[in-house]
Amino acid sequence: MGSPAISKVVIVGGGTAGWMAAGALTRVFGGLLNITLVESEEIGTVGVGEATIPAIRLFNGLLGLDEAEFLQRTEGSIKLGIRFVDWTCKGHSYLHAFGDPGLPLGGLSFHQYWLRAREQGATEDLWAHSLNARAAIENRFDRPETVEPNRLGPLVWAYHFDAGLYARYLREWAEGRGVTRIEGRIVDVARRDPDGFIASVTTDKGDVVEGDLFIDCSGFRGLLIEQTLQTGYDDWTEWLPCDRALAVPSAPVSPLTPYTQSTARDAGWQWRIPLQHRTGNGYVYSSRFISDDEATATLMANLDGEAVAEPRPLRFTTGKRRRMWNRNVVALGLASGFMEPLESTSIHLIQAGLEKLIRLFPDTGFDPALAAAFNRELDAEYEAVRDFLVLHYKATERTDTAFWRHCRELPTPPGLERKVAAWRANAVLPNEAEDLFKPSSWLQVLEGQGVRPNARHRLADQITDAQLTAYLSDIRALVAQGVASMQDHSAFLASQRRAPT
Ligand SMILES: Cc1cc2nc3c(=O)[nH]c(=O)nc-3n(C[C@H](O)[C@H](O)[C@H](O)COP(=O)(O)OP(=O)(O)OC[C@H]3O[C@@H](n4cnc5c(N)ncnc54)[C@H](O)[C@@H]3O)c2cc1C
Repeated sequence: MGSPAISKVVIVGGGTAGWMAAGALTRVFGGLLNITLVESEEIGTVGVGEATIPAIRLFNGLLGLDEAEFLQRTEGSIKLGIRFVDWTCKGHSYLHAFGDPGLPLGGLSFHQYWLRAREQGATEDLWAHSLNARAAIENRFDRPETVEPNRLGPLVWAYHFDAGLYARYLREWAEGRGVTRIEGRIVDVARRDPDGFIASVTTDKGDVVEGDLFIDCSGFRGLLIEQTLQTGYDDWTEWLPCDRALAVPSAPVSPLTPYTQSTARDAGWQWRIPLQHRTGNGYVYSSRFISDDEATATLMANLDGEAVAEPRPLRFTTGKRRRMWNRNVVALGLASGFMEPLESTSIHLIQAGLEKLIRLFPDTGFDPALAAAFNRELDAEYEAVRDFLVLHYKATERTDTAFWRHCRELPTPPGLERKVAAWRANAVLPNEAEDLFKPSSWLQVLEGQGVRPNARHRLADQITDAQLTAYLSDIRALVAQGVASMQDHSAFLASQRRAPT
């Protein structure tokens, strides 16, 4: 027999991480856990985090959120991928669309045939064979159940949403199902003897909240995991040099694009995230290469609608906690680590942490093997994301600013080196279990950033030239048919809105 079961869970922080944790644990454990969330309105939340990846739909599905209601409540829009502008060289752009381009044939991936066609002079790019990419560029979207079935489909989608509204929506959901929320600033943390586990937290209002398991969702400060337990932090600035961001909302503009845009700037990159009620913008930059004033001027000069607030500065150190589960504290969200939102991965990493916590859920004995498994698995996911992000910076032809020259010389993490070497050798795409990014993501970013393979798979020669031409043009015809059957993205969103009751 193990130790007694955990009954009291305390979540510290009510940003996206805190309320996602409250939602997931409530849904999975129901009445088995007594869940309390402590948050401080005075401190507030980071207030950014608007672009997601398709796994968010699994999270919303777990909670049983209705998509139309979710889009309306969060002023959300559909995301089919990310458009990277000026990353490879100025004037160039490419998409990292969700979903696979093309269709495999005879056990071989589509891209091997497409590479053969390119060798033979074909000029149609990779994205001409992707339903998601074409729909994104043409501002189209429809749910698969409302359009003609397509052999390339269905579309793969995620969302852009207002992070503050999402946290409020989740809070309503969780409070409605029994989560207790305590308002107050935590001013004291009590630890127990002799193991140093957290026993309770005390707010400025005098509330003492005891727990068996504490989930630290307190943001960058890491109130329990760092300020109390001093777990330590792995700094990854040597690989990803950006350390600041400015965020500013602007008035919404038409068309409402179903993709995030990332535009490379002189010392970093600018995001553009279209929501129904506004556009989210931000400049992620390296303070070594540009002043805050210059970064502000660049951001404000490059908005496509009128700014509706002052730019808000944020500072960060890229990296992760040495242990995201330490003693009886599990850190999620910004308290666990941070990587810039280039591939919109932070909210996903909250979800990944929750999935592992639920699977490895301890009893009050807190067997160290569970924390070790959690830390090992999440470390591997963080590292795989880091390597994918580094690829965007390193594989650039830009030499026009000191920042981009620096990026070209960045050290290559060993995992990335291995993956790029296999790609160069024979167009082999990475497909590793802990890697959030699957072969189609690597394919699009490698191709988009101009990393060409030296060879391709011989099996692509198994069809004749005429068959190759027909195979590729059939796929493009399917893409055209699929996109033509969808409605305009804004029209889709309008169709989801319901009159207030
Ligand atoms: C510039 C930038 C852009 C980003 N863009 C994206 C994106 O596009 N996509 C994406 O997935 N992610 C993005 N992220 C990350 C995303 O914003 C976060 O992962 C997400 O919002 C989770 O934040 P959090 O809940 O961990 O922290 P926070 O939102 O900071 O919440 C912390 C909570 O802890 C509470 N708290 C702190 N101290 C105390 C205390 N002493 N007492 C009581 N309560 C306390 C606060 O009140 C708050 O409720 C971005 C982050 C940054 C910095």
